[in-house]
Amino acid sequence: MKILFLDQSGKPGGAELCLIDIAKPYQNNCLVGLFADGSFKSLLAENHIPVQVLTTQNIQVRKDSSLAQGLGSLRQLVPLIAKVVQTARAYDLIYANTQKALVVGAIASFLSRRPLVYHLHDILSPEHFSKINRRIAVTAANRASLVIANSQASKTAFIEAGGRADISEVVYNGFDPQNYQIDELVVNQTRQQLGLEGKFVVGHFSRLAPWKGQHILIEALVQCPQQVTVILVGDALFGEQEYVQNLHQQITTLGLENQVKFLGFRSDIPQLMSACDLIAHTSTAAEPFGRVIVEAMLCGKPVVAAKAGGAVELVEHGINGFLVTPGKPQELAQVINDCLHDSENTATIANHARITASQRFDVTNINQQIAQLLTKL
Ligand code: UDP
Repeated sequence: MKILFLDQSGKPGGAELCLIDIAKPYQNNCLVGLFADGSFKSLLAENHIPVQVLTTQNIQVRKDSSLAQGLGSLRQLVPLIAKVVQTARAYDLIYANTQKALVVGAIASFLSRRPLVYHLHDILSPEHFSKINRRIAVTAANRASLVIANSQASKTAFIEAGGRADISEVVYNGFDPQNYQIDELVVNQTRQQLGLEGKFVVGHFSRLAPWKGQHILIEALVQCPQQVTVILVGDALFGEQEYVQNLHQQITTLGLENQVKFLGFRSDIPQLMSACDLIAHTSTAAEPFGRVIVEAMLCGKPVVAAKAGGAVELVEHGINGFLVTPGKPQELAQVINDCLHDSENTATIANHARITASQRFDVTNINQQIAQLLTKL
């Protein structure tokens, strides 16, 4: 089967990292068409996945854009759609991985008479998307032959927004557990290089954005002893510079400069996670899936996650991790302090998480699930 994958992003967010794993088995029979240049293109090339940037125009559709903005951007899309239609003729299937890719892919699928698959990585709820963008996404997705939702939470929100249940299937993100087994020597070196020896390290791995809730972790840190250090791994991928400034301001105001390190965007996530004592996920809005939660589990590290959306499907409180109410720093601080003081129980939970996550999210099984769904088409 020859697949034309479409993704709007030039930067590697969670949806893009997931696409690398999905496209890999098709690397001799696929093309990933991007709507922007950037480091994601390089990552695909490094993984020997054919990639092409299909437009040099910056497509303006934001999550919160209005109807007028949404329709205005259609004009910009015409040359891109024409390009996708022409490219799609050499492929059996169009596989849209993001919302703008879905809109373009739906029109191109109709014009090129190729079936459309949409991989839904979002929760289509009012807290994440404007009404018009939800309407556009659902209308386009309902034209697809298959919608692969990255969690039950994403699927439920899609159906609640008017999406078709009969074409929707849940497939979780897949991971290669071996990538997350890091040698103790490397762990010690990493801690040394980052000046983390003797500290209780809480890691936060996410792009810097208000709803990812890094500020909640900083607030929780005030209620922890001084040996607790936070590393913030990730960058403002989509222009959230004001939030970054606010975070720095918050840290200065609270006098936490010596307890928080910003590491920027990194590609050595398993090494960095393995150097942590606890991984915190603090999203204030429902997380569609939460790759970082599974990655922490695969590293054998305890994880505390905000209890909403896909996170609830991944974590069972006290069994394979911890769940706290989103936006409640005091609950988060309690878990951090509990983990600091009861390392034996925490290690048992983390070990259980590693074993079960290795089976549940194994990339080979996940890719088989996707292959079976695509074959049915
Ligand atoms: N990530 C990364 N480098 C960073 C920060 C994050 O590679 O500096 C990765 C992280 O390991 C995870 C992904 O980005 O695989 C984020 O996915 P998630 O589902 O947690 O959130 P999303 O970005 O999709 O909202």
